[in-house]
This record gives sequence, structure tokens and C-alpha cells, in this order.
Amino acid sequence: MSFNVIFFGPPAAGKGTQAKIIEEKYGLKQLSTGDMLRAQVAEGTELGKQAKVIMDAGKLVSDEIVIGMIADSMERVKDNRRIKGFIFDGFPRTNAQAQSLDMMLKGRGQKIDMVLELQVDDTALLARIEKRAKEEGRSDDTVAAMKTRLDQYREYSAIVLPYYQIQGNVYAIDGMRPIDEVTMQIEAILGEDIAA
Ligand code: AMP
Repeated sequence: MSFNVIFFGPPAAGKGTQAKIIEEKYGLKQLSTGDMLRAQVAEGTELGKQAKVIMDAGKLVSDEIVIGMIADSMERVKDNRRIKGFIFDGFPRTNAQAQSLDMMLKGRGQKIDMVLELQVDDTALLARIEKRAKEEGRSDDTVAAMKTRLDQYREYSAIVLPYYQIQGNVYAIDGMRPIDEVTMQIEAILGEDIAA
């Protein structure tokens, strides 16, 4: 029995925050390509140096890099029986990523069981980014980069969401609510299916 879910939504929608709450409770593992890339930047690796320029501009890093990172992370925990499945956070963002993810899961006899779309309006996102910029100092949390990231989101969500909508497993979450209420909405949808 496995369960794999994608947390989908614009930057600062709360995907990471919710993933960290949910993963503990359900025995899932969060795989965030953004976190993985930031770790590479922090370590000062060659990949990190290349990625930083793209990230700071708010653009997308190449499919090859993010798919490789996801494949490595899944492989690393394949024998860990405590992990019942994955929360994909910030991945997939392109059609190629979505297709590769399907292939990787298929190879393990698994699939994407659910996509949760966190919906937050742009004004609220910009306010959150301003707050996060002060608290965390992320170099892509600037007004200019955020504008590009929101434009990118509009472009890739128009491709990635329909990919899953035709499979009938996309659920909208009102991400404007306080953190605990968002968690409750997620659990209400997740709960029934994960126990099934
Ligand atoms: P995030 O933390 O998910 O907002 O990601 C921060 C930045 O990392 C993005 O703006 C992209 O530059 C890069 N990134 C993260 N995930 C992906 C992905 N799946 N595909 C391409 N670029 C990504």
C-alpha cells in the first residue's frame, strides 16, 4: 500500500508548510525540488551555482536537473518501510517532469493518487512573500523575481493541472484560510483516500 500526492500551487501558497505537517502524520516523505536546489546553493556545488542564477531570476531550472534530483531522492529511501509514499512539493512543473514522474512511479508499481491544488490570490501571495523575505532572506523573494515566478506559475499550471485533471484526481484547497484550517481541509480529502 502506497500513497503519492502532489501539493500544487503558486509560490508562497503554503505547500512546504502543509507538507511538513502532513508528512509526519501520514508517514509520507516530502520531496521539495526547491529545498533540494537551495541545499545545493548553500553547499556551493557546481549545480548550485548554475541553479542560483536561474532561481534568482524566478525562472525554471532544467527538467534534467530536477528529474534527476527526484529520482535520486526516491531511490535513496526505497528500502525504508516507514515511508508509505511521497508528497511532491514544487514538482512537477512541466509536462516532461509529469511524464517522468509517472514513469518513475510506474517502475515501482505506484502512481500519483491525488493532486491538491492550494489556491491563494496574488495580493495575498505578494504580502506573504514580503513577510518571508524579511524572515528567511531568500534571494528569490524579491518583487521582480516574484512577478516572474507568478507568470511562470500561470504558464505551467495551465499545462500540469490539466495533465492530472483528465485523470480526475485534482482537489482544490482554499489556501487563504489560516494554517490549521488549511491542514483540516487537506486531511478531510486525504483521510478517506489514504485509509482506503
Ligand atoms: P520553490 O521553492 O518550489 O518555489 O522553488 C524555487 C525555485 O527553484 C523556482 O523558482 C525554480 O527556479 C526552481 N525550481 C524548483 N522546483 C522546480 C521544478 N520542479 N522545475 C524547475 N525549476 C524548479
